[in-house]
Amino acid sequence: MSNMVNPLKSSAPGLGGQGGQAQPGFRKKLRELAWALFAMALYYLAARTGMQLFALKPSNITLLWLASGIGMVMCMRHGLLALPLIMFVSFCANYPGMADTHLANPVLYTLISATADGLAGMVAMLMMRLSLPEGLRKSTDLLHFGIKVCLIPTMLSSLILSLNLAVGGYIQWDEAGNFFRMLVLADSLGILLIYPLYQAWTNDRQLRHIEVQRLVLTSLGVGVLLYLAFRGQPGFIYFILPVLLLLTFYVSLNLVTLILAVSMVAIIAITGQQLGPFQSRNLVEANFMLVCFVCTTTFTILAVALHNYQLLRIEAARQEWQQAAEVDALTGLINRAAFLPMLAEEHQRAARMGRPYALALLDIDHFKTVNDIYGHQAGDEVLTHFASLMQANIRGIDKAARLGGDEFAILFPESDAREASAAMERLRLRLEQHPIQTSLAQVFVTSSIGITEYQGGEITPDMVRTRADQLLYSAKHAGRNRVMFDVVTDEAA
Ligand code: GH3
Ligand code: MG
Repeated sequence: MSNMVNPLKSSAPGLGGQGGQAQPGFRKKLRELAWALFAMALYYLAARTGMQLFALKPSNITLLWLASGIGMVMCMRHGLLALPLIMFVSFCANYPGMADTHLANPVLYTLISATADGLAGMVAMLMMRLSLPEGLRKSTDLLHFGIKVCLIPTMLSSLILSLNLAVGGYIQWDEAGNFFRMLVLADSLGILLIYPLYQAWTNDRQLRHIEVQRLVLTSLGVGVLLYLAFRGQPGFIYFILPVLLLLTFYVSLNLVTLILAVSMVAIIAITGQQLGPFQSRNLVEANFMLVCFVCTTTFTILAVALHNYQLLRIEAARQEWQQAAEVDALTGLINRAAFLPMLAEEHQRAARMGRPYALALLDIDHFKTVNDIYGHQAGDEVLTHFASLMQANIRGIDKAARLGGDEFAILFPESDAREASAAMERLRLRLEQHPIQTSLAQVFVTSSIGITEYQGGEITPDMVRTRADQLLYSAKHAGRNRVMFDVVTDEAA
């Protein structure tokens, strides 16, 4: 695999690789340190909040463990260095609760739990780097993400955690199975909500005005639905899915991931306060229903948002490709391939409406000599300058093109040959009287121009072009630096 990355080497987006020379080493280290401290604080906050807000009474099983997603992101940014950081902060967050139980060896059992938390982050990061090195780019990536990055690492850590707590006597052995299942779901959900949010915001930090308006409206909508759902109308909870789904079509991925995370966190936090649709006498069943609802909603929204994001990228690439295929790279004018269909289209329109149009073909005189004397680079500059002079002497609706080499064309819709020749005469005079400034020297060039006008009749666009070409060569033979024009009629063609 050519783009294989070393999974243990940190490569923070936007910070450059380890060998980057642009940013001074000290400033970069300082920024990374600040980021690590911020992430640790966030991890601690998420873990403590997880225990208090997202834990359902009386089981105290946490339904959402955002810290797992933060841990994974820390590993993505800091590589192996993140492991002791996660272990330290996880220890600090968990120890008070473990010590409160007055069971033996809380330090040891907390340390094992902290190691499991660190491992989960590392394994998730490794899985991400190996299976999705470019991040989440399309909806089908979500399948790999869900299984390899969310489920496998959290199953591993949840197994260690459940066994550790059961051996230590913190939970009963017969609870261990359910504890394991809920941990897997809570930790997976943490990664599923946090990583896409992190990726979307590191790739695109822009907040477009119109998007913010839509976001505010959607947030209000979600807020009302949540209020209704948790205040006696449980069915309203299901309307959150279509509202968020609609949002994916109107705002970019960063905002979708943000409102998705906030909404899901809100649903779990309110349920944690023993309100809303996910209450039942059977606590295990209620918890499971809630987590399933949140997981399926998150998965669906992310899948659609990623799909839209993929379509947008395809469309942008198509436009770029089309632009490259139609535009002359040197002068920025349209090229022959784009010009000929335009000519054909204008020809048809003029024939249908009984209106005239004019076509001018231009060729720089003795351009080879410019190249020979001043070099190809200066020749290029002359071509570019010539193109801008052409543009400056025509109207907005006229179409200027570079057909190749030093040969150019201009289509004058709704114009006769006389009007077109007036514009071309201005250009000819401008060239004759003012040199073109190149980086090497001032260069005088002139141009020969043939113009013809279409006035209807059984004439094809090729015939019009041939006639303009004939006039251009007549201009060359007559001594160059001149404009020749006529009207193309059935007989002339
Ligand atoms: P004429 O008055 O008969 O048109 O003489 P000319 O020397 O201009 O002859 P012609 O139009 O046949 O020559 C065009 C030259 O333009 C030939 C080629 O070397 C040069 N040329 C073609 N494309 C480019 C380009 O992209 N950059 C530069 N610098 N020169 C080019
Ligand atoms: Mg020429």
